[in-house]
Amino acid sequence: MTPLDKVGEFGLIGRIQQTVEITQPSTILGIGDDAAILAPAAGQELVISTDLLVEGVHFDLTFCPLKHLGYKAVAVNVSDIAAMNALPTQIVVAVSIPARFTVEAVEELFEGIKLACEAYNVDLVGGDTTGSRAGLTISITALGQVAAGKAVRRSGAGPNDLLCVTGDLGGAYLGLQVLEREKQVWQADPESQPELDKYPYVLQRQLRPEARMDVIHELRDLGVVPTSMIDVSDGLASEVLHLCQASGTGARIFTENLPIANPTLEVAEEFNLDPIMCMLNGGEDYELLFTVPLADHAKLKNHPDITIIGHMVDKSEGANLITKAGQPVPLKAQGFSHFG
Ligand code: ADP
Ligand code: MG
Repeated sequence: MTPLDKVGEFGLIGRIQQTVEITQPSTILGIGDDAAILAPAAGQELVISTDLLVEGVHFDLTFCPLKHLGYKAVAVNVSDIAAMNALPTQIVVAVSIPARFTVEAVEELFEGIKLACEAYNVDLVGGDTTGSRAGLTISITALGQVAAGKAVRRSGAGPNDLLCVTGDLGGAYLGLQVLEREKQVWQADPESQPELDKYPYVLQRQLRPEARMDVIHELRDLGVVPTSMIDVSDGLASEVLHLCQASGTGARIFTENLPIANPTLEVAEEFNLDPIMCMLNGGEDYELLFTVPLADHAKLKNHPDITIIGHMVDKSEGANLITKAGQPVPLKAQGFSHFG
């Protein structure tokens, strides 16, 4: 293991730079100068988004492998670009690293970052590297492009639009419950072995989420243009409310339609947690929530990875969850909130 001070800041950046490949035609110059140079294609608009991940707030290194953390840090940024209906092109990565880290540990983090860059076809074109007197902090800024005027905002939904969500929900939250329980067991008895093998699905959902770029491409192929879109980072309820607020509508979502995977359901039962609450308020699933015109129903109704969970209604109706018995329950944003 190599201590950080042995290679220094520039040695570390050099190591990162060595393994980075540039693949995007819009990247003119990557790592190594005072700034990167980009040339967005003609007729495209630039889309940009930043996410900050702070040790002890967003992740816990006792159970989050650094490679996964690097991957996730990129995926959550790409997810924001996807949620604008744009294609990601570049990222910059700023890290603040505690002295207890080794060079190998930092390299593991960047292996995850680079793996995600390959998976999402984005170039790592720069960043910043400093020491930290507290924990590890990772700030990633992602850039993307979308044909002028084609970005999808939160604000475009109208009454009767179908409300759709990709994949399934609640898994990431239950993965976190498993990890926190095992951490407590381990803290009480450091000799004990964590029981994680039983929960591959929810752990993967928590530790290594994917941005749904695949769905963005599929919607384009289907000729479906969402009227509004957001990614599910804080929980479905909170995101539905965001779309309603931005669009000036209400919404109706149906309990029976909410998508949950079997392994997620099993873990919810084991933890005595209401699966519906896990889907509504769990967060970190990084699925896409979007609305489409009613006319697109036929194109999406049998899609294996998209579920129609409800529809938008007039603002005066508010945003409600309709129970199996047909009872409306007002949606509340109970997802994770900083400063709460
Ligand atoms: P400056 O003093 O101008 O901030 P640096 O020495 O910090 O320059 O960075 C040198 C080059 O290395 C720049 O191109 C910068 O974008 C890149 N760089 C620094 N840290 C990182 C990092 N963590 N990931 C990717 N590129 C980085
Ligand atoms: Mg710098």
